[in-house]
Amino acid sequence: MSFEKLKVIEPILKALKNEGYTQPTPIQEQSIPVILQRKDLFGCAQTGTGKTAAFAIPVLQLLHEQQQPVKQKPAIKALVLTPTRELAIQIQESFEAYGKFTGLNQVVIFGGVSQVAQVNALRRGVDILVATPGRLLDLINQRIVNLSDIRLLVLDEADRMLDMGFVHDVQKIIARVPKQRQTLFFSATMAPAIRKLADTLLINPVKVEV
Ligand code: AMP
Repeated sequence: MSFEKLKVIEPILKALKNEGYTQPTPIQEQSIPVILQRKDLFGCAQTGTGKTAAFAIPVLQLLHEQQQPVKQKPAIKALVLTPTRELAIQIQESFEAYGKFTGLNQVVIFGGVSQVAQVNALRRGVDILVATPGRLLDLINQRIVNLSDIRLLVLDEADRMLDMGFVHDVQKIIARVPKQRQTLFFSATMAPAIRKLADTLLINPVKVEV
């Protein structure tokens, strides 16, 4: 299998070559076509399987294909929620690497540091926002972040977000995201609480397990 066969577009193929990725991992092979078909996805995969690229590549591609010919200040079109600062930074760096020839930009926000730099980055305009739940909810409540243009929502490591007690924050955030959207849900387990949360967020999801 190759990224070309998965119909990944040229600007992203070029970036993947720069990263030294020669072929997709199993989670990528299964997830990329489903996401490009605009279906909801329930992905059961651990860290280390290549799950970040499994959602980042098709999210970049879908947004790139929808870009306006005249570039306005971008509104946030995709939101990735993840439990920790480390994961948030890694995910943002992945979007940056795979998306460097797409013209899309991404910002990462997380708690435990001053919000000033994050707020300035948000004000410049964002296509893809990667966030931990607490800080994002804070910025929503301050009316600094508006989620009403989001078309793509990704929950990364949903099981860890539940374990870390973020479920209420996550639900409050998602209540601000339009219902007309595509949702991608990743978890390392399919425990009952995870299935229950997934059921409330996903519409006819395709299940992918590696
Ligand atoms: P993740 O599971 O998303 O944390 O990714 C694990 C590691 O695999 C990261 O260091 C990625 O850069 C790397 N990786 C992801 N996809 C590929 C691929 N198709 N080929 C080679 N390395 C990859």
